Formats: sequence, C-alpha cells, structure tokens
Amino acid sequence: MPELPEVQTIINGLNQKVLGKEIQKIIELRSGTLEWQIPITSLGKIESISRRGKYIILQTSLHYKLVIHLRMTGKLIFERDLDKTSSHSRAEIIFADKTKLIFDDVRTFGKIEVMKKNDDIPALKKLGAEPLSNEFDAEYLIDKLRNIKAPIKTVLLDQSVIAGLGNIYVAEILYRCKIDPRKAGKTLRTAQIKEIIKYTKVVLQEAIKHNGTTISDYRSVEDKSGEFQNFLNVYGKKTCECGAEIHKIKQAGRSTYFCNICQS
Ligand SMILES: [Zn+2]
Repeated sequence: MPELPEVQTIINGLNQKVLGKEIQKIIELRSGTLEWQIPITSLGKIESISRRGKYIILQTSLHYKLVIHLRMTGKLIFERDLDKTSSHSRAEIIFADKTKLIFDDVRTFGKIEVMKKNDDIPALKKLGAEPLSNEFDAEYLIDKLRNIKAPIKTVLLDQSVIAGLGNIYVAEILYRCKIDPRKAGKTLRTAQIKEIIKYTKVVLQEAIKHNGTTISDYRSVEDKSGEFQNFLNVYGKKTCECGAEIHKIKQAGRSTYFCNICQS
C-alpha cells in the first residue's frame, strides 16, 4: 500500500505534470471508482495539489475538489497519448490539451471522490497529526500513548494517531530507534518517544528523497519505481546488519519484521 512518501512522490509528480491543466472530463471505466457528490458539467483547471495522510486532494478553479485515495494498489499514471491505456485502468481524467491521468488499480479498493471545494472531507477529520509537521512532537505522542496497552507498532499504524504511516515505514522507524515493536505504548520512556519522533521524520524525508519504496505495486506518475527499498534494514529481510536473524511475526493481522538483538 502506498504510504506517505509514495503519496508525496506522486503529488510531486502531479505538480510537474498536471498542475494548471483544464479537466475536460472524467471517464469511469469500472463502476464504484468515482463518487460524485454533486452533478458537475465542468470542473475547471487544477489549481493546487496537496496531501493529507495518504489522501491526494486536487482543487479546481471552478470551486470543486477531487479527493483520491489509492488504497492497496492504486496508481496515477500520466499519459501523453489519449489512445494508450493501462491493464487495470479504472478511471481516466482527460485534459483539454489531449493528455490524461490514468487511475490504475488492480485490487479496485481505490476511489476518486468529486465534491465542492468547501465541503468537509469526513475521512480527514479522523486523521491524527501529520508526521512531518511541528504538531508531531514528543508532547503529542506522550499524550497519545498514555494508558495505551497496545504494542507501539500497532499504535504507529493507527491513522487517528499519525496520518500516513504504514507497515514498511513503521518497521524501519522502530529499527532505527532500537525499540521492540511488541513493547506496550505506555511503557516507553520519554527518551524513546523522542527517538520515535526524530526517526519518523528522518525516515520519511529520506524515503521522499528516494521517490518512495517499491516492494510490489507502487509506481510514480511517470510509471517508475521508487528506490528506498534499497535502504530498508528489516522489512522483508532475512538477516540483520548485526548478523542475527530477522524475526517475522503477526501483529493485528499485519507482518512485523524486527531484530530481537538490536531492538529491545
Ligand atoms: Zn540486529
């Protein structure tokens, strides 16, 4: 699933490729992909492209917005040739200059919602702090972890605590902090919480610099892979740098990778 660095890389690509383009129409190729809150004849030009958590928000000049969530396997691919498509194209945003943005999604969980510019996006109200913002600091996380019995790994995946993290980055962050992912949130010391804040920002920034992580599906707007998978220490690995075996366990139904020598 695309996490914050992949979504941010897609947004950086969209800003280069489609910002300012006039939307001529949106074609739905698989029903259920598009959700129209209102009947629309014309959307106007794309005025701004932003991210909140794993959501992509395109604001248009005629006071509408497109809210896109890629879910498991969604991709946005820019295409200069209107006749070209991709194998799992679910919707296409056609621009007046005869280019398009293909919404490709193998698993079909992704969605594009079209709504008025000033309407609230209900899903965004439930999101926690943006990890790269100043709001995400030790004080914020200490408050969220108070009385939390759940393992720290599970807490960091909770989008209502931190918006945008997923399985791959949480594994890497906890490895860099040398914290065992099974540790209960409330048992962490202040120094450890400060490490989590620090390495969350460091890992996400490094990953954005390397255009995200491609383990299976993720592709950029230009249909290219990310490179941060080459810098991961534990996710999907068999051996730690220290020589010990990487453990793979299940937590809340998701795979967790860690080194029980380096992480305690
Ligand atoms: Zn190790």
